[in-house]
Amino acid sequence: MASRYIYVGIFALLILLLITCAVNSRRHYKDLGKTVSWLDIALIYPILGNAIIIIATRKWLALIGCYIYHIGMDFVIFELMKFTEAYCNGAGKKRKAPKWIKWVLLADAVQLLANLFTKHAFDIEWIVQKGQIYYILKPLAGQYIHRLVVYGVFIAIILGLLIMTIRASRLYRERYYIILAAMSAAGIWESYYIFSKNPIDHSMIGFGIFGVIAYYFAIHYRPLRLIDKMLSGIVSNGSDACFIFSPRGRCVWVNKAACILVGIYEENSEKAPEALEYLFNIKLHRGNWSEQHSTGSGESLKYYLFENRDVLNEKGNINGYYLKVSDNTKEQLKIRKELYEATHDRLTGIYTQDHLFKLIRQTIDVHNDTDYMVLYANIKNFKVVNDIFGNDFGDYAIRCFAEKIKKQFTSRCVYGRLGGANFGFLVPKDEFDADKIENALTLINVKRGSIKYPIQSQIGVYEVNRKEPDVPTMFADARIALTSIEKDDSARMSFYDDKLRNEILWNQEITTQIADAIRNRDIRPYLQPIADREGNIVGCEALVRWIHKEHGFLAPFKFIPSLEKNGMIAEVDKYMWRCACEILADWKKRGWDLFVSVNISPKDFYYLDVPKFIKSLVEEYDVDPKKLRVEITETVMVTDSDKVVSIMEEFRSYGFIVEMDDFGSGYSSLNMLKSLPVDVLKIDMNFLGKTDDEQKADTIVKNVINLAMELGMTALTEGVESIDQFDILSSMGCSLFQGYYFSKPIPLEDFDNLVIVKRKY
Ligand code: C2E
Ligand code: CA
Ligand code: CA
Repeated sequence: MASRYIYVGIFALLILLLITCAVNSRRHYKDLGKTVSWLDIALIYPILGNAIIIIATRKWLALIGCYIYHIGMDFVIFELMKFTEAYCNGAGKKRKAPKWIKWVLLADAVQLLANLFTKHAFDIEWIVQKGQIYYILKPLAGQYIHRLVVYGVFIAIILGLLIMTIRASRLYRERYYIILAAMSAAGIWESYYIFSKNPIDHSMIGFGIFGVIAYYFAIHYRPLRLIDKMLSGIVSNGSDACFIFSPRGRCVWVNKAACILVGIYEENSEKAPEALEYLFNIKLHRGNWSEQHSTGSGESLKYYLFENRDVLNEKGNINGYYLKVSDNTKEQLKIRKELYEATHDRLTGIYTQDHLFKLIRQTIDVHNDTDYMVLYANIKNFKVVNDIFGNDFGDYAIRCFAEKIKKQFTSRCVYGRLGGANFGFLVPKDEFDADKIENALTLINVKRGSIKYPIQSQIGVYEVNRKEPDVPTMFADARIALTSIEKDDSARMSFYDDKLRNEILWNQEITTQIADAIRNRDIRPYLQPIADREGNIVGCEALVRWIHKEHGFLAPFKFIPSLEKNGMIAEVDKYMWRCACEILADWKKRGWDLFVSVNISPKDFYYLDVPKFIKSLVEEYDVDPKKLRVEITETVMVTDSDKVVSIMEEFRSYGFIVEMDDFGSGYSSLNMLKSLPVDVLKIDMNFLGKTDDEQKADTIVKNVINLAMELGMTALTEGVESIDQFDILSSMGCSLFQGYYFSKPIPLEDFDNLVIVKRKY
């Protein structure tokens, strides 16, 4: 009695287990999960059927159990077939059981159900065992059909599985063995029961266990041995060298690639780490690190990435560590090539500006006990070289220059191309030899084919001041030094110093202040009287002065040159011309018949239409153009004589008197004078009287005065400082005079007083 309920208990437990497996496997992502789930559900029926038969106290109840068991068996076989299909599919070709088997099983189930009416398949009878009544099955003809179907399909499944097992690779085989063994065991146990005549079908335990095993192996089992084998296969035969170490650093295993890398036989593999350390000149140690190393040089240069990793157990203690060494020569060469291209000038192979600046910064910072010079070199008139000989020759010239640089400077120097025909250098002060550098770089004969051309360069030098924070500013300063000699063909090297610096600062200061100075009338005209032969003041020259709020009285040479450089001179001159017109208008009101000469800078012609502008001014102030004389210096004739001649003509056509200023200062030939539309020749005593031989000087002055008279021009001598000079010049035929003998340039009020008080010298 007791054993009956023990079995029922076991069966109930198995049913519970199967339900759990069925539910769990449904949740699983694998396709196999579904078939396992159905199989485990199917397995519940025969177990349930048997449990009912065991505890049945009535025949009808045992009969119900019988039906459940029988039809459940068809269901089990069907699901077993599905499961086997799915289980084997993971490993290779898909195999499917023929469709008709399904129909055969269905037909069997139908014939078993028909037993309700026909009683052809089975019946129930009771037996007494150990004083207990048990219901047992009494097989009839239909039962044999059922057995035939079930066993037939079952054996087919077993055979299929057997074939899969034999065909599977060794590593997969264990997966099939287990299922095959479990399935066969359950089948044999069931068969044993059929013939045992035992009233309790304990083989149902086999069904339950099989259901659980199928669930476990299909869903949870991971073939660890398989993974291990595969991993070790990958590592052993992989191209990366691998070294495995014990926690204490003893090398316990290396792969083939490691032996090849360090050049030892596999038998001596324990020496591999030592050889590796020697080969790369490194010291191996545990920890998580990666480093880049290289061996060989030139063609045989190879780069390797070293990656070391600690392997920890679940508690975080070290199990050992491994080192992987992979050949990444290709990537490294590519990276290095890209880096080279980004940091080196394509044409010359020397550094690019960006990289040069970076290196200079580093060098200065690292060697902070060394003094340095920064050099900025420029090939002169490089555009002309390109224009005349073509870009190819130009490129070639640049390369020649770079080659010369490479030969000239030691490894303590850093240099590069700053773009175009400009080059930059950092040279330690103790290595800086100005003469040597000048000789090497400032004149290079470039020869290519039939073309020969001497390229000249100029160099600006800046002595590095450690307080100077940024490299571009250092080069800007070196460049300033260079710019200061750019127009001077004979100068080769220029140093940035305080004078240059002050000059630049001064230029900056006055340039930014000039507009305000004009507006505030800090800029104003001083007038220097011009006298005739009798000593009467007949006019004046307006000369600019700047009464600077901070620096006081400024003579023109302090600010005119820099304003001429940046074109601001035109603003000053326009203002001076306006002042001259104002003065003339005032004198006109007073009834004074005096003229004012104004200066025109050669640069004014670039910025405005001077004749038109001055004409509009005299019209605005309603003064006689004859009273406004325009002084154009002789030096402008050098550059653009045709243009100047036409400007002079334009002035004269408006009625102005044109004066040639500073005649004798230089360039124009006496011959040229004939064709110049000039009314007055201003002869500067400082230029003409320079010679020591007074007699000779007199002769020159006399001849110039004569020439002027012959050409119908008025001669005016400036720089007359004494009565003797006045007398001599008068006797030579000069008609107008200007100079300190009469007066220095003076403010307007003083000039007006002078005219009123003393009109005659
Ligand atoms: P410049 O036009 O030849 O002016 C004559 C210069 O000689 C003036 O110098 C004048 O002060 C100076 N001078 C006059 N008499 C004597 C003398 O007896 N002995 C000596 N040693 N020097 C004498 P300043 O005023 O310093 O002007 C210098 C130059 O500045 C002028 O030379 C002129 O080229 C330029 N400049 C002056 N004012 C203006 C202006 O408003 N516009 C432009 N564009 N240039 C101006
Ligand atoms: Ca002048
Ligand atoms: Ca002059």
